[in-house]
Amino acid sequence: NLILAFESSCDETSIAVVEDGKTILSNIIATQIDSHKRFGGVVPEIASRHHIEQITRCLNEALANAKVTYDDLTAVAVTYGPGLVGALLIGVTAAKAVAFAHHLPLIPVNHMAGHIYAGRFISDFEFPQMALLVSGGHTELVYIESENHFEILGETRDDAAGEAYDKIGRVLGVNYPAGKTIDTWAHQGEDTFNFPRAMEKDASYDFSFSGLKSSFINTVHNAEQREVELSKPDLAASFQQSVVDVLAEKTDRALDQYPVKQLVLAGGVAANLGLRERLEHDMAKNHADTKLIMAPIKLCGDNAAMIGAAGYVAYKHQERAEMSLNAEPGLTWNVAKSD
Ligand code: ATP
Ligand code: MG
Ligand code: FE
Repeated sequence: NLILAFESSCDETSIAVVEDGKTILSNIIATQIDSHKRFGGVVPEIASRHHIEQITRCLNEALANAKVTYDDLTAVAVTYGPGLVGALLIGVTAAKAVAFAHHLPLIPVNHMAGHIYAGRFISDFEFPQMALLVSGGHTELVYIESENHFEILGETRDDAAGEAYDKIGRVLGVNYPAGKTIDTWAHQGEDTFNFPRAMEKDASYDFSFSGLKSSFINTVHNAEQREVELSKPDLAASFQQSVVDVLAEKTDRALDQYPVKQLVLAGGVAANLGLRERLEHDMAKNHADTKLIMAPIKLCGDNAAMIGAAGYVAYKHQERAEMSLNAEPGLTWNVAKSD
């Protein structure tokens, strides 16, 4: 089984060829970060234009690097949501064109399922499974009772974790995306500010990061007004400690209530070394029977290989899209946990 996968939901144009849902034959990623960073975030119109400019080159390179032709392919998979509508449409249109021209089945893939399946490249999946999904637009605890059956246990009520990293990074003068730099600084400082840990003890599995963000920004602005110099490493360490404490605490409690065979850590913020270290420690201590699968750091950010892995599973489950497939910018999981 060979899947050609397309990803264009945000600011990465990516096309991959994935074999049997677990082996990467090629994974071309064209990032647009340089074009967006002077605006402090992704500008949708610029993103769409970049996708158009890059997609044909990515397609040719993905096939060439994998040493395959269209005749070798089993199916075409594509991210159809969630994401920026104009950006998604470029990938969806290109994937449809290839599927139509070469008589290949078209597999619609949820971008967030894709993030989870980045973990598939380092381990087989076993169910029931839990995923802690932390990215630029989402922060979710997802319960996966069986393959391809996703239920949200809790999610952020305001900012996503990655979004909070990017916003507090901006007030420290860090270019978008700020997560990696803040993570590095955090390892050089200490939690001296003791910022709020919203909803840490709340019974739900929901998250909230906007209070932490505001508290951080107020602290920095007040110091600027008083012309006091604050330690960036200590600010970063304090912010990161709050984020990691809440994520770890909620995950720990979710695992108590919903015992699973595996916990998958995925999404752009899953590249965070502080979070990875903390989960490794907590899982060994409190949930030694649950296997921790951390998506490979290089596959935490947006890429098409993860879409190919998720697409393989959707393909096995007979999921097919018509040529009328449209982008769904607000796509969510089809099943929400009701109890
Ligand atoms: P979504 O997947 O929710 O649609 P997205 O695709 O824009 O959003 P991702 O590409 O999954 O988001 O993740 C990007 C985010 O990850 C950015 O906010 C970035 O700052 C953050 N990030 C990347 N590396 C790190 C890190 N080491 N620590 C914390 N955050 C990080
Ligand atoms: Mg991105
Ligand atoms: Fe993403």
